[in-house]
Amino acid sequence: MKVLVLNSGSSSIKFQLFDRDGWGVLASGSVSRIGEAEARLRCLWEDDQGQPQVREEQGAMPDHHAGLQRIAQVLERTGTLADPSELLAVGHRVVHGGEAFHAPTLVDDDVIEAIRQVIPLAPLHNPANLDGILVARALFPSISQVAVFDTAFHQTMPRTAYRYAIPDNLYREHGVRRYGFHGTSHHYVGARAAELLGKPFEQVNLITLHLGNGASATAIREGTSIDTSMGMTPLEGLVMGTRCGDIDPAVPFYLAKHLGVDVTTLETLLNRQSGLLGLCGDNDLREIQRRAEEGDETAELALGVTAHRLKKYIGAYLAELGTVDAIVFTGGIGENSSELRARACAGLEPLGVMLDPASNTAGSNQERVLSAAKSPIKIMVVPTNEELQIAREAVQAVS
Ligand code: ADP
Repeated sequence: MKVLVLNSGSSSIKFQLFDRDGWGVLASGSVSRIGEAEARLRCLWEDDQGQPQVREEQGAMPDHHAGLQRIAQVLERTGTLADPSELLAVGHRVVHGGEAFHAPTLVDDDVIEAIRQVIPLAPLHNPANLDGILVARALFPSISQVAVFDTAFHQTMPRTAYRYAIPDNLYREHGVRRYGFHGTSHHYVGARAAELLGKPFEQVNLITLHLGNGASATAIREGTSIDTSMGMTPLEGLVMGTRCGDIDPAVPFYLAKHLGVDVTTLETLLNRQSGLLGLCGDNDLREIQRRAEEGDETAELALGVTAHRLKKYIGAYLAELGTVDAIVFTGGIGENSSELRARACAGLEPLGVMLDPASNTAGSNQERVLSAAKSPIKIMVVPTNEELQIAREAVQAVS
């Protein structure tokens, strides 16, 4: 049997088709620019001889239904999914599950309604995720659809970690609290790190750092999330590509009052024009590192602020967890930037975090340990694989 994983955005659908036996990727790709005059489809797969193949198509795809139909067609033509009945399940990434969803969930009408209910908490993502579910249901009516939520892994956080110190009714009536995101990734890399440490996930304490364009840190106690840096929305916490992360909540009031900036402009400012981009004009860390090496002071500052925030969260989570087996880096930056890893860990040796400089800088895209042999806390890189985690969780939900 096979499992199709879909990640539906406002104008795109990314897909990966897995073989349930062994979890090999049979095909992957995306349709993008849905709704534009020339939408695009890209599909990668291996032919019978194991040779990598790629197919690219352009054409009108007026909506997500048309987009998913094209994906089904290309999977059929490549022979990777000759018939939808080969599917055990379709797993859907859903960004926000509010408090309703603690686990991957088999989709029915009530689930669709519940996902709709939390749209106000994720107005940019949940409608598109829901669209993906609805069109997949229409196209593959006899196949189980499973929703896998970015927030679900963090539903184990204690109240003391997820409540904000604002009036109680804002939580009770409006759901204002920390939810946390990237849960699928934190779960995947945490469980893999436990395997590499040779211990059950339920017996390890970890700090997982997902550092990509979006970035978040999670404290994992005995296999469950007990705190995470993103909040009610993915804006809180670490410095990100274009998001500010933590700031004094009074900054937006000040800007509104003194510059006459409206709420929509503030949202754009803090979500899309801040973070690394705001600090130095670039949000690609490779470029920022290159500039900093050449002596560019704003690039150096951007790296410094980002590393400072990261170190603060590592310290906070060391304190929350008490004992920690490993710190796990993942995401484009976490997996690749030895520079940022070194800056984040520098000075933490007395707390048991000892990076081995040679292991840290040895280029690799594999799972690996970067700490010195004597380091009480291991430092690891585990490349994330959210699609695989969604596929596995989808299978769990249907069985
Ligand atoms: P997304 O959150 O969009 O999935 P990624 O996880 O792909 O993002 O991470 C993107 C970030 O990773 C970018 O800032 C990019 O510069 C950074 N990155 C990718 N490769 C490297 C590298 N070799 N060294 C430093 N940074 C890198």
